[in-house]
Amino acid sequence: MAQKVLTTQAELDEIFAKMKRDYGALTKKQEAYAIREIERVRGDVSNLLADYADSDGTIKRRRLRQVLRELDEVEMAMRANGEQALNKIVKESTEFTTENIAPVIGISASQVKIVNEHVFKYIVKRFDANGLVLSERIWGLSGEIRDELSTAIRSNIIKGEGIKSMMKDISSVYSADSWKVRRLARTESTTAHRAATSYNAQESDIVNWVQFHDGRGGHRNHEKHRCYELANEDRYGKGTGIYKPKDTDIWLPHPNCTSYITYIIDERWL
Ligand SMILES: [Zn+2]
Repeated sequence: MAQKVLTTQAELDEIFAKMKRDYGALTKKQEAYAIREIERVRGDVSNLLADYADSDGTIKRRRLRQVLRELDEVEMAMRANGEQALNKIVKESTEFTTENIAPVIGISASQVKIVNEHVFKYIVKRFDANGLVLSERIWGLSGEIRDELSTAIRSNIIKGEGIKSMMKDISSVYSADSWKVRRLARTESTTAHRAATSYNAQESDIVNWVQFHDGRGGHRNHEKHRCYELANEDRYGKGTGIYKPKDTDIWLPHPNCTSYITYIIDERWL
């Protein structure tokens, strides 16, 4: 690798500070992208309703069941788009992290590939608190949105409202649920970011310790969060928030967590 391996703590701190700023911008873009992808089916819903509507823009009650059954395909499309978007986000966060870090801690090109593949596998196969893997979490979310669309369409048809009113309610469903999509995107992205930071350190010969920083100010009742406890724990007698690169419990303290990890290569900083 052409770039020289950095060995001073100050240089490394600067790299992490810049990465934190760039990563902040990246996650904002990723969240907007995930929401756009999940909502991409809105056009399909609109076409579907138009197909069933009479010339006055209303849908006959006797067609209700049939219309609701057609939402199967809408749900499948949300799942497929959501899965593709989340996989892309996870890969992007992992590669972004490795690109920033690997060259300065002596990680070779072949190791980069291994690190990125390992992190991607870890994220998509990770079980959450409900025992679900990523694709199942997306499945669950698409199902929730579908149920809400179903309720909105049903009540509009029963009341004899037209498609315009239905589409307004459908937009409301998506805006009310956008925080769920945002949370999912942020959780998976930041976990990939932390995991890639740690995993690069594991592969490196010069990083022996990592420092965990909680997502201060990122959430209410901050001191009740697991990230607060982790940032204040002195596990190895090296100082609070100091961990080994192999400590995976700091990769995901809780969903929606904005905590992050940096490196300590100079023992004098401990
Ligand atoms: Zn947190």
